[in-house]
Amino acid sequence: MGRSPLVLAGPCSAESEEQTLDTARRLAAAGFRIFRAGVWKPRTRPGGFEGIGAPSLPWLARVKSETGMLIATEVANARHLAEALDAGMDAIWIGARTSANPFAVQEIADALAALPQARRDALAVLVKNPVNPDLELWIGAIQRIYAAGIRRIAAVHRGFSSYGKHLYRNPPEWRVPIELHRRLPGLPIICDPSHIGGRADLIAPISQQALNLRFDGLIIESHCRPEQALSDAAQQVTPECLAGIIDSLVVPADGQPTETLDMLRQQIDRIDDELLDLLAQRMRVSREIGRYKLANRIPIVQPGRYNDLMKLRVDAAAALDLSPEFIGNILATIHEESVSQQAEIFRDSGVGIKN
Ligand code: PEP
Ligand code: MN
Repeated sequence: MGRSPLVLAGPCSAESEEQTLDTARRLAAAGFRIFRAGVWKPRTRPGGFEGIGAPSLPWLARVKSETGMLIATEVANARHLAEALDAGMDAIWIGARTSANPFAVQEIADALAALPQARRDALAVLVKNPVNPDLELWIGAIQRIYAAGIRRIAAVHRGFSSYGKHLYRNPPEWRVPIELHRRLPGLPIICDPSHIGGRADLIAPISQQALNLRFDGLIIESHCRPEQALSDAAQQVTPECLAGIIDSLVVPADGQPTETLDMLRQQIDRIDDELLDLLAQRMRVSREIGRYKLANRIPIVQPGRYNDLMKLRVDAAAALDLSPEFIGNILATIHEESVSQQAEIFRDSGVGIKN
């Protein structure tokens, strides 16, 4: 790898002084400069490891004095913040469960606003996305921190909770951080592949994807003995393994889009125009069918027809190397719009949708 991305690395939780220091020393030896460790852990259910709390803060302070690394931890309320700052924290992050709660974010923001200006200038505050893909809530949390006079702010994309089992622990839904970037272009965005993937083997591909999308850095969990970790064991890697992963990543050059890229983008623009045109044509035909159904008292939806159409297209999609899920979603959206346009024709004529 030519250039290195900004990386925050460290265990999910500070579990013992030995584990914290061993992990930090090995990360420092591998060249990492910023150490993360959870002190207070928001666990989904009671009985999980909830972190050591304030007694572990001196271990992080020791990491800083011994290795020279900057230190970062999660805070969820004003008391956590005060204790973390007393321990000399260089950065704090607001976790996904906290950023979903404006009361909690405001409490932290008020405590930040009360700090001396110099402390506010020095402190970096990272705002993780809320657990749900609610961009406005994420932006709101960032605005609360900004209004408290903090200027070193970054967003952290850690994926979004969803129901059921998926490849990812928290599916990334990349369009959300991409839209955040469009809305707040100057704001650095850091990717957290550990919590997105939930698996050690997904760290590298997710990190590479983030770099391809021009994220500004990565926050990755690393533990001296991952298999013995008290929280998030499956997604942690040793410091040496993490160094190998970072080394394998390719940071895309900053350069201007090349001529080839321009040409490819022109092709995409043309195809998108054609798609729009086709969709417009399709909706015109749908409306014509709507008028025919109305005249002949045929109900709008015939489930048999919908299922046949879906199956036919999804099978055809597979033959074209298109993912059935992708095509299934698009067809479902198109069908929904068709139904709603036909329903409008029925409504306009004074006929109920149910016939
Ligand atoms: C963490 O970073 O350890 C953590 C708990 O993350 P999140 O708030 O994204 O779940
Ligand atoms: Mn974790």
